Amino acid sequence: MTKRVCVIPGDDASPEAVLPALAVVKGLELDIDWLVLPTGEEGQAQHGEDWAQVCRDAIDSCDTTWFGSASGKTPAIAHLRWGKGTYANIRPVKYMPGAKSPLSHPEGIDFVIVRENMEDMYSGIEGDLEALQGLGLVNRQTKQSIPASGKFAIKVITEANTRRIVEYGCELAMRRKAAGYPGRLTVSSKYNVLPGTDGYFRSLAQEVAAGYPDIEYENFIADDFARRIVAEPHRLDVVVLPNLYGDIFSDEASALVGGLGVAASGCYGDDYAYFESVHGTAPDIAGQHVINPTATMLSAAMMLRHLEFEEGAAALEKAIEDVYREGKALTPDQGGSAHSEDFCDAVRGKL
Ligand code: ATP
Repeated sequence: MTKRVCVIPGDDASPEAVLPALAVVKGLELDIDWLVLPTGEEGQAQHGEDWAQVCRDAIDSCDTTWFGSASGKTPAIAHLRWGKGTYANIRPVKYMPGAKSPLSHPEGIDFVIVRENMEDMYSGIEGDLEALQGLGLVNRQTKQSIPASGKFAIKVITEANTRRIVEYGCELAMRRKAAGYPGRLTVSSKYNVLPGTDGYFRSLAQEVAAGYPDIEYENFIADDFARRIVAEPHRLDVVVLPNLYGDIFSDEASALVGGLGVAASGCYGDDYAYFESVHGTAPDIAGQHVINPTATMLSAAMMLRHLEFEEGAAALEKAIEDVYREGKALTPDQGGSAHSEDFCDAVRGKL
C-alpha cells in the first residue's frame, strides 16, 4: 500500500540538508507519496496566519513526517510531539568508520539513547517566585523560605510516562539482545539532589526493569554518567533518560561518533512517529550549503524502516557508510570540503 510522507524542510540551514537528501531518498523509487511543505520563511510568506494550521493538516494527512529543524518560522514541532503523543525519542549513537571522532578508538561504539519526550523540564511551566509566596515552601538544605524575587521552573515526572519510556527501553534492549547486543539497560538521573522527581524516576525504572530478568540493569547519577559516556561508551547498549538529560547527553554522545552532523533520531508514539536529526537549524552556517545531511538521511533510514521499507533503509545506510569509508565527499564538520549537495550526490552514486 502506498505510504504518504509529509516532508517539512524547516528553517535556516535545515532545508539545505533536507532538500538534497529528499532527492536521494526519492531516487530509491519506493511506493511513497511525498507531501513537501515550503521552508519556514516561504510558508509564512505564502500562508500568513494559516501557516501553523497548514502544517498540522499536512501532518495529519500523512502516515509519518520527515522533519527538518525549526527555529520558530516552522511551527509544527508542538503538534508532532505533544499533539501526536510521540513519547519515545530514539537517538542511535553508532560510529561509522571515516567519521571524525575525538577518540583514538571509536570503532564499535553502538548504543541507543531513549529519551522521554513529553515532560520533565519541557512542560513550559515557569514563573515569578513571588507567585509561590505563602505556600510554605522552604529550601530543603537551609530550611529557609524561598526568596521573594526571582524565577522558577517546574520539573514534571509522572508515573505513567516514566513507566512507558522505561518499558520502551526494556523492549528495545530485548530486541537488540536477540540481535547479539549485550542486553543492558542504563538509566541515569540526578536522584541524589532531586529525590522527589529524579529519585521517583529511578525507583520506577528499577521496578519496571525488574520485570525483564534477561536484561542487565544499571543506574548512575547524571554527572557520573556524563563522564562514563566519554570514558566507556563501548559498553553502553540502551540508555533511558528523562527529557532534559536525554537532550543534553545525546549531543554529548554524538560528539564521540562524528558530532551533530551525523546524529539521527525518531520520535515514536502509539499511533504516530516522526523523524528528525538531533541537531538544530545551524543558523551560523545557513546559506553556505555546508550543513552535513548525514543526520537527516540516517533519520530518513529510520523512517523507511518504520514504514516497513527495510531494503530501502538498509541500502541507504550502507551507501552512507560507503561514502564515509571512502572519505572523498565529506562535509567540513567531518574534515572534508564537500558541499551538502556533493555529499548527497556521492550517496546517490553508491546507491
Ligand atoms: P537546538 O537547540 O535547536 O537543538 P542548537 O543550539 O543545539 O539547536 P544547532 O543548530 O544544533 O544548535 O547547532 C550547533 C552547532 O553545530 C552549530 O555550530 C552548527 O553549525 C553545528 N551543526 C549542527 N548541525 C550540523 C550539521 N548537520 N552539519 C554541520 N554542522 C552542524
